[in-house]
Amino acid sequence: MSQTATQNHQLSGINIGLDVELRKVFKVFNGEAAVRGVDLSIYKGEFFSILGPSGCGKTTTLRLIAGFESPTAGDVLIRGASMLNVPPYRRPANTVFQSYALFSHMTVWENIAFGLRIKKRGKGEIHDRVQEALKLVKMESFANRFPSQMSGGQQQRVALARALVNRPTVLLLDEPLGALDLKLRKEMQVELSNLHHELGLTFVMVTHDQEEALSLSDRIAVMHEGKVEQVGTPSQIYDRPQSAFVADFIGDTNLFRGKIEGAHPAMLWIRTASGLKMKVQPSDVSGEPLTSGAVVVSVRPEKVTLGFTPDDEQTNCFEGRLQNVMYLGTHVHYVVQLRSGDQLTVRQPSALHVPEADTPIFLSWQAHDCLALPG
Ligand code: ATP
Repeated sequence: MSQTATQNHQLSGINIGLDVELRKVFKVFNGEAAVRGVDLSIYKGEFFSILGPSGCGKTTTLRLIAGFESPTAGDVLIRGASMLNVPPYRRPANTVFQSYALFSHMTVWENIAFGLRIKKRGKGEIHDRVQEALKLVKMESFANRFPSQMSGGQQQRVALARALVNRPTVLLLDEPLGALDLKLRKEMQVELSNLHHELGLTFVMVTHDQEEALSLSDRIAVMHEGKVEQVGTPSQIYDRPQSAFVADFIGDTNLFRGKIEGAHPAMLWIRTASGLKMKVQPSDVSGEPLTSGAVVVSVRPEKVTLGFTPDDEQTNCFEGRLQNVMYLGTHVHYVVQLRSGDQLTVRQPSALHVPEADTPIFLSWQAHDCLALPG
């Protein structure tokens, strides 16, 4: 590509409001690819999360954006400019780590001022910016404390202030709440969300906590074995997963392997490996509509209705026996063994009458309540 063409191409990223772009990025460690051809486009002001199981390459992807790792192939751009030869401290991105990574011998004030001092900013400017950053994270009264004199949540707030004081274009968050207990984690999630709204900055967060990603993010990239399986809004990822992996990883689901026996634009007839005949409403979630071949049918536990008699109104109705009942306050979790041998989980709102284990039962769901995914 010519120099001008490259510049035009890069400019297009800015014009459509992109802050971060990964183009066909690979990262190989000791002959093993941790990141395999990742393409990502992250928009200005987005809260974007990278979610996936341990070892799927999400931290490596974040470190490639931060500049702590360089790609084996591909390019990383911030605001349309290639970052390939730009060291981390010159990138308009700052990272908040799970371990806070504060300097233990420095006070909160010194920790936050450190980056500005290195950049040789004037005393007055450092004072104002540190004060502003402390205020953002509501830690003004902690300026003279040392990290060891604070709780985990307070230390993480300081780590956030230390990143924000540099006024980055992009804030990178590597499992930022991973070290906090559940209650504090929930509180800090709200704080993070407020901070994001207040600042309008682009946040890119790595997490393995799907609930955290679903509740905080504008969009989520689900990674699996070094690749991006799907990028979408939380509801697209939850309600319209494009693969069996995403359906299984996000929330609970019941998966049935099977084959398409008949296809009509409005209905798929599927026979599962265990012999169940299911009707599934086709969807275009994975691009090309599925019309033949192997599929995996996904049915969320909350979409299944439980009854004591066959429900002729429902498209899919199967007989089974209750194996396990767990009362969980707001809802009841059932495990049901179908006559076919399949085991399903079902979640229903709590009711006065909760059937006991071993009760014969019928499970039913509509064709539009399940999804057929490439098998
Ligand atoms: P986790 O949630 O456990 O942190 P992750 O999805 O963030 O996992 P990565 O840390 O990106 O995964 O690691 C992806 C793969 O790359 C793993 O197999 C890991 O062992 C490997 N890896 C990461 N960093 C290095 C390194 N510096 N040297 C060698 N291998 C590495």
